[in-house]
Amino acid sequence: MASKRIGVLALQGDVREHVHAISQCDAIATLVRKAEDLRSIDALIIPGGESTTISKLLKIFEVFEPLQMAIEDGLPVFGTCAGMILLAKNIIDGSHDQETLATMDVTVRRNAFGRQVDSFETEIDLSQIGAPNATAVFIRAPWIERSGIGVEILATVQSDSGSHAVLAREGKQLVSSFHPEIVDNESYGVHQYFIREVAS
Ligand code: GLN
Repeated sequence: MASKRIGVLALQGDVREHVHAISQCDAIATLVRKAEDLRSIDALIIPGGESTTISKLLKIFEVFEPLQMAIEDGLPVFGTCAGMILLAKNIIDGSHDQETLATMDVTVRRNAFGRQVDSFETEIDLSQIGAPNATAVFIRAPWIERSGIGVEILATVQSDSGSHAVLAREGKQLVSSFHPEIVDNESYGVHQYFIREVAS
């Protein structure tokens, strides 16, 4: 079978690390900056970065609506961190005029883990996606506070306030609070799952 072509939305954020992760999963990475770039990909990754900035750039470059339509038409998409916020139907603690693509039935709390723990790493159980446990890196990360009936929660982490959903799937949409492109080994279990299972 030919290698899949995985787009990485390259308007802002940690694009390079995702491109590397994709290349380690026997797939071809391609950068997406314009609406027409969406036509030649099998799936898309929306990287971490700053969700308000990415949203504004999507509008400026006229990618916002074409992307929304492509996802609604079944383009497999993986949103990491800011990418998770961008896919969420509802956000808590967004900026007053923050717009999202609103394709996934989740409510996501921005910067959920609070200031004291702006960034942290923890071991995460990925057995539900058939991947080995991994070190998950959280950087001003959101969590999923509510999820619709069609959403499968695939991994959680524990904080002082309880257990929080940090990896979830609804059909062909996958989201993670953490940065699976930043790893200390080259396992890329979440990328493998996205490319092999979600984007199949
Ligand atoms: N807190 C950022 C936002 O709201 C997301 C952080 C990240 O992607 N690492 O967009």
